[in-house]
Amino acid sequence: MVIHMNQENEKEKLSGRETVEICCRTMKLMWENFPRNIVSSILYNMMKALTPYIPLYFSAQLLNELAGARRQEILTKWVLLLLILTFISGLVTHLLHSWETVHRHISYWEHQSQFYSRKLLEADFDKIDDAVTLDKLTQIENNQTFMGYGINQFMIHLEKITVAFFQVLGGILLSVSLFTLPLAEQYRRNMKLNMVFVGIAALIVGTVFLPALLGRVERSHIFEWADHGVKLNRVFFAYGFDLYQNKSNALDMRIYRQDLFGDNVLGRNCRDSITSMEAILNKGIRGFCQAGSAMSSYLMMGFIYLYVCLKAWFGAFGIGSVTQYVGAVNSMAKGLAELFKTAAQVRTNAVFLKKIFEFLDIPNEMYQGTLTVEKRSDRDYEVEFRDVSFRYPNASEYALRHVNMKFKVGERLAVVGRNGSGKTTFIKLLCRLYDPTEGQILLNGIDIRKYDYQEYLSIFSVVFQDFQLLAMPVGQNVAAGTSYDAVRVEDCLRKAGLGDWLERQEAGLDTFLYRDGMEARFHIDKAVQGGVEVSGGEEQKIALARSMYRDAPFIILDEPTAALDPVSEYEVYTHFNDIMTDCTAIYISHRLASCRFCDEIAVFHQGSVIEQGSHEELLGRGGQYSELWYAQAEYYK
Ligand code: ADP
Repeated sequence: MVIHMNQENEKEKLSGRETVEICCRTMKLMWENFPRNIVSSILYNMMKALTPYIPLYFSAQLLNELAGARRQEILTKWVLLLLILTFISGLVTHLLHSWETVHRHISYWEHQSQFYSRKLLEADFDKIDDAVTLDKLTQIENNQTFMGYGINQFMIHLEKITVAFFQVLGGILLSVSLFTLPLAEQYRRNMKLNMVFVGIAALIVGTVFLPALLGRVERSHIFEWADHGVKLNRVFFAYGFDLYQNKSNALDMRIYRQDLFGDNVLGRNCRDSITSMEAILNKGIRGFCQAGSAMSSYLMMGFIYLYVCLKAWFGAFGIGSVTQYVGAVNSMAKGLAELFKTAAQVRTNAVFLKKIFEFLDIPNEMYQGTLTVEKRSDRDYEVEFRDVSFRYPNASEYALRHVNMKFKVGERLAVVGRNGSGKTTFIKLLCRLYDPTEGQILLNGIDIRKYDYQEYLSIFSVVFQDFQLLAMPVGQNVAAGTSYDAVRVEDCLRKAGLGDWLERQEAGLDTFLYRDGMEARFHIDKAVQGGVEVSGGEEQKIALARSMYRDAPFIILDEPTAALDPVSEYEVYTHFNDIMTDCTAIYISHRLASCRFCDEIAVFHQGSVIEQGSHEELLGRGGQYSELWYAQAEYYK
């Protein structure tokens, strides 16, 4: 994928309302896709926050009783309640933790990339072809891999907010009586207590707002880091992985000693990144705020102790309650601080979430058809190009002009012409990667735009010029799936001319293709290390076998045999022709000799079909086809 360095995270700040809207949308997205992830996260973090309050409350009751009336049955009651409830809450928290961990890991991969791959799969093809779309995606992925900004941070914030919210709630419940219980009669007029109370309130405000202030100061730096992260990721992958592990770099690396260069750049970038983060975290106002916040929280603890002890001293409650109140108020203040701090982070992260939605919201306009494609056992489909013209988005010239063509099942059509004459564009339109600018393409008399896109595509099997195989077992490559009919896969490979090759492979259909696939490089699966290298010709034959396995009524080969020598190419085509008796085949080839067995040959020139007919007819006409034919015959003599 091309990484465009010019796209940066906009250093914008969203309003509170926009932040809430974006967070609600993210929540909805996650809820629709991973409801268990959300429920388990909220329940686990709620229990995590509330569990410590149970021993705090019951041990306080126990101590009060011990220091007071010491009634045996009451003591027994508190001890039993303390033990049983602590045990149950501990158990429930741990079970929820396991549940939450499972769902966090299941959903992690999906929201790391599957949201985006699904979108890419559904998007209009011209959008995928467009650098702006890829820019957006690159930016999202970089933000994600660098610091987890986007959905990962959203889930972390959800955890933090849940914990903090229930900490505050539990803290309030357990400390309300601290402020409401009256002092003993003789101390009612004592004003010292009120002053301490004001002190606590002031310190809580300090402890809560300083981290929130830090969050605001942090925001602009975070955008800088995220932009820096784009570069760091690029450097890291280029010099950290690709330079050393990509076999094709080995020669250049030795000659130019790129390893020294790589080490240097990688080291400097990593150092810069780490030091800049540390520096930013600690310098200037941030350093003061951090120190101030820590100091304020220590002071607050002191004031809380003072207030609680004084109230106990003045007879408002028993000695046991002292630990309860100190613990509860402290926990509540920490929860409040965390809430404010996280709110600032949520606001920062919303900018990154907005980027995600900008990408997910790219409209899908093309594939809206709903008609089902009739499944015909006689495969009697007819496709017609009716006066089709097409101009690529943003191009000034037409790539196709007034193309009229009809092909019925069982026919063999060859599309020939010089480079740039429009042959591939013709196939792209047929597969609805683009829609015609003018004119119509019809399947059985109905405009193909009206059909459900996936159904329409299912009638085609295409081997593009730049087909791709995966570093996965050959069987899975041919079947384009993990479960397949092994006998049919072997049959297709044999028909594509790979029978002998397959016999030589010890692992048979489980033979991994490519020795240096990503999986092998990162040692993900030991079996992959036994992968085999395949030549260009073998790759093309595997791709042909894949197209046969699909068993579609239309089969299109777009110069997939370029890596084969002329003799092998001729063999493949004639072989293919013999096998594919009940489907329509469309061949695109430079080598006219390979196409002479076709029923019909269409000659493209500058986007138009200038000649159409059988081999003999076209030769007899003495036009461009015969010119090309004789030129090539000369060449291959
Ligand atoms: P052929 O397959 O016959 O070599 P193509 O169909 O690939 O020719 O190209 C036909 C014309 O369309 C050429 O002029 C080519 O430059 C142009 N073209 C092809 N792809 C694109 C694209 N993605 N954007 C703009 N123009 C394109």
